[in-house]
Amino acid sequence: MLSPNPIPTQTLHHSVLTEKKVKLAVLRLDLVHEEVSGNKFFKLKYNLEEAKKLGKTTLLSFGGAFSNHILALSAAAKVSGMKSIGIIRGEESSKTNPTLSQAEENGMSLHFVSREEYRRKTESDFILALEKTYGDFFLIPEGGTNAFAIQGTQEILDERHAPFSHVATSIGTGGTFAGLSTRILKNQILLGFPALKGPWIKEEIQHLLESESIQPKGQYKLIEDYNFGGYAKWKPELIEYIRWFWREFNIPLDPIYTGKMAFGIWDLIKRDFFPPDSNIFMIHTGGLQGNAGFIEQTGQKLY
Ligand SMILES: *Cc1c(COP(=O)(O)O)cnc(C)c1O
Repeated sequence: MLSPNPIPTQTLHHSVLTEKKVKLAVLRLDLVHEEVSGNKFFKLKYNLEEAKKLGKTTLLSFGGAFSNHILALSAAAKVSGMKSIGIIRGEESSKTNPTLSQAEENGMSLHFVSREEYRRKTESDFILALEKTYGDFFLIPEGGTNAFAIQGTQEILDERHAPFSHVATSIGTGGTFAGLSTRILKNQILLGFPALKGPWIKEEIQHLLESESIQPKGQYKLIEDYNFGGYAKWKPELIEYIRWFWREFNIPLDPIYTGKMAFGIWDLIKRDFFPPDSNIFMIHTGGLQGNAGFIEQTGQKLY
């Protein structure tokens, strides 16, 4: 079973916050579990329960070569005594990167496919072919977003979060944002910072909320100005900011998701986006496992 560690909330202290009269606290989901980190813990929780209920012994999912979801899935399967299969976009040579070597160490079988094949990941004949190869499995979509994931991410917020005026999260597929949106209160604003670039993100989120019949009580808003050019794209100022954040607050961030959100929140604070007396709750969705691979690939130091 997946059992969570207590999740600390860390209040930040800085002269900019005092000057702008806003409060900022970080929910450290990165500490929820040693191996199944961040929002992926919550996204996988009910998927694993469902798989067990159905008597499945193998989990299968999709991801890129540095995927937080793939590594979390491999660890969750290991902890739960299940088998796991990762269908990975890219070359077999990425097997030795820190993410995939750890996934393999967790017992995951890796299966590499070309970009063209990977695009077929939701097609039924592609899935059937995988079943022919691997036998029966419980399928979890890329990024882990489905109704079970949304059920799990709802549990990130509870009554302790009532005092906050704004709740902020990073967005990939939007599953976490959808889960959080079910819990925000009438007077709260949920802010989502997409880590990807594209006009379709808004529609996809809207579609997700509709298909899950979610009608948030509070407001929600996507802030698309901080994707740094797209998924896994970055600029030196982002890296500088992540280093600064670590020195200042002793909180590690990642350049794919949490760093972009934190950069955005800080920039918005400086630009007076948040009215005085705002109380911001920033959700640290984890993703730190990817930092080793990022540092290896780019030579950029993050801490
Ligand atoms: C997967 C991930 C996200 C995106 O979550 P979605 O539910 O897909 O929007 C955000 N932050 C981190 C660190 C992640 O690993």
